[in-house]
Amino acid sequence: RYCYVNGRFLPHRDGAVHIEDRGYQFADGVYEVVTIANGTMVDEDPHLDRLERSLKELRMRMPMARGAMKLKVRELVRRNGLKDGLVYMQVTRGVAPRNHAFPSDKVPPAIVMTTKKMDFAKMKKFTDGVTVVSAPDIRWGRCDIKTVSLLPNCLAKQAATEAGAYEAWLVDEKGNVTEGSSSNAWIITKDGVLVTKPATNEILNGITRQTILDLAKQDGVPFEEREFTLEEAYEAKEAFVSSATSFVTPVVKIDDHVIGNGHPGSLCEKLLGTYQDYAAGRRSR
Ligand code: PMP
Repeated sequence: RYCYVNGRFLPHRDGAVHIEDRGYQFADGVYEVVTIANGTMVDEDPHLDRLERSLKELRMRMPMARGAMKLKVRELVRRNGLKDGLVYMQVTRGVAPRNHAFPSDKVPPAIVMTTKKMDFAKMKKFTDGVTVVSAPDIRWGRCDIKTVSLLPNCLAKQAATEAGAYEAWLVDEKGNVTEGSSSNAWIITKDGVLVTKPATNEILNGITRQTILDLAKQDGVPFEEREFTLEEAYEAKEAFVSSATSFVTPVVKIDDHVIGNGHPGSLCEKLLGTYQDYAAGRRSR
């Protein structure tokens, strides 16, 4: 298995960055996770658009032209014989003597890519659903930037893991669910309306989230982008999480509240099927 580090394809075990890399010292960098289905990137351009936006918000530029970036990803996927799984891409501000302020813009950004094999056809979480627990959202004011600074997310996911749950749903001071620690949060009301929080600075606007909204629009599934409280989620007819690698993963329990009959609901199943068709290239958005 290969990785890509600053222009070179290397055996994964030899992939390393310098101790003075600002990603290591300050979490001064951004990343993307892109699903690979049948050997191709799902939502390639939207992910690269978001990478470019995240970099811009940190006053960094794309480390190479978009076309070159796509070729590097494809080369890594080919070398690793990856059919289904993900590509992880990370760009940090590069290597400079430790100082909070940015180094000169002559310092080249550091770019790293790795892959992971996954089997989207046989995922237990799709058929059985998952459980989530709530946790306070203690993150910063720019959750719209996909930065590698993920400590609050790690703490929340660890709490979920210790509670035997798959994901933590983060709750703000008003009692609204913002998103999951590494996914977007959705509920389906008794009237069959899809609800997810509007894409503000308080959440990461998931590419999967945007695709699901587009597909719902195409299929005439009613949806609302609005706030919802944890209390409303407890009473929801169905619930799910979305992310590049969880697609539409049904949620069957939130804290002590069983959702629906404790099994994935029919609209979740339909949306998952739609998304799987999309990921496999059987339909477009
Ligand atoms: N929110 C957070 C905090 C995330 O980390 C992720 C996944 N990286 C998402 C939402 C979902 O984003 P996407 O659909 O682009 O994977």
